[in-house]
Amino acid sequence: MTSATNRCACGHVGTSCTEHALSSFWRSFVLAYMVRAGVAVFSRGVGLARSGRPRDALNIELLFGEKHTFYREEAVRLGMFLGSFTGGYHAVRCQLSRRTGMSPKRLALLAGGVGGFGSIFLKKNKRRAYGLYLMARLAQSGYANQKKKGRFHFWGSHWDHGDVLLFALSSAQVMYSYVMRPETLDRGFWNFIVRAGPIGKETLAAVRDNCNGKAVDLTGLLIPGATSAALAAGTLSGGMSSSVFVPCVPCAAMHRSTGCPSCASHVAQSSLATFRKCFPFYLSIHLVPYAILNARKALASPWKTVANAAAATARSTTFISAFVGLYMSTVCASRNAFARDHRALYYVAGVVAASALFVEKKSRRAELALYLMPRAVDAFVNTVNAKRLLPAVPHAELALFVAVSAGLMHLYENEPDTLAGFLRDTIRRFVHRPNAPLPKSASEAVLQACDDDDGAED
Ligand SMILES: [Zn+2]
Ligand SMILES: [Zn+2]
Repeated sequence: MTSATNRCACGHVGTSCTEHALSSFWRSFVLAYMVRAGVAVFSRGVGLARSGRPRDALNIELLFGEKHTFYREEAVRLGMFLGSFTGGYHAVRCQLSRRTGMSPKRLALLAGGVGGFGSIFLKKNKRRAYGLYLMARLAQSGYANQKKKGRFHFWGSHWDHGDVLLFALSSAQVMYSYVMRPETLDRGFWNFIVRAGPIGKETLAAVRDNCNGKAVDLTGLLIPGATSAALAAGTLSGGMSSSVFVPCVPCAAMHRSTGCPSCASHVAQSSLATFRKCFPFYLSIHLVPYAILNARKALASPWKTVANAAAATARSTTFISAFVGLYMSTVCASRNAFARDHRALYYVAGVVAASALFVEKKSRRAELALYLMPRAVDAFVNTVNAKRLLPAVPHAELALFVAVSAGLMHLYENEPDTLAGFLRDTIRRFVHRPNAPLPKSASEAVLQACDDDDGAED
């Protein structure tokens, strides 16, 4: 089949359809693997550089050692997923457009659906999280499409701060679940919130038990020197146990991570600690994927790339620190005002904390709202499921993923304007393949994958 003038209906010239699909697989695999591994190693490096001994950042064992830096399994899974997604997408599109004579654009729906099966390489919770996230993006694009055609739009959709409102509602659900129903949040996501925030798992459990009317054991949770006063309000529940019924888990326990006696200094210390904890991770998220996916631009002006990433990181980290600070202030303020706890407080605190979103650039606000919304919907659906109001569907995650990728690829090929710019660029980066021969070696695949900046035309 192969000849120098071989031209396929879907646009590749000089390669056979099989070679085209395989090289798509190869390059997507390499890109995805590099991004995942790069983020892990880079944030580890920044973490080491900021530790007491900055020279550790140059220690190969500490930086790459399998005991210290974890990314291999996830990088392979992500690579297999994106590789089989794009490879499968191209294989189906090529074969069907050759055999049926249909235009590749019309086949995007089917090819995208088949590509969506690549998500079997992801762990179930990742498949679910990505599927829900992409569903939110698809809904946004579908809505943009309908609005553009003048068919319908939501009341108030011209309002400037719809994104912040959506974020606030999502934040309320997520930050309530974080305290009251952790089992309804994705485990990894819950751990991320716990690590970023100032309240330890034991304290969270005590607050939860307390709001559910159970006695709580506060010994070991209080900051030193606060023991007797804080417990004076409680009544002992039983002879042997040190559990007590208290109207509210006191600030003396909520402040344990910082050890600050006063609420104001605790809030300030918590925000600062969040800033310190999140900085390396955000820096690698802002820098590494950009540098790998736009290697040519990044190498042409490396200092500008680093400066842009550092500025974006400072902003994102300020946002998350402000979020934590506002959440904690609301929780402390209610303790000072009412001296008793109520579940609804954690919804309210989520809404108050969401106003930190104003720190972010306008364009990032919608991104973050669409990132958080599916998490909130997921938590809500899980709460409903736990009450057995909905039937369980086997392989629901996979079905969702297949449907969503079919829809997104259809829009990408037929109405790209309705996709958010960031999403369109990311799909293009992975799916679009300029005419390049099947790489002869792994290093050639790396070079081809990185040297894709001009692949955007047509
Ligand atoms: Zn082809
Ligand atoms: Zn307090």
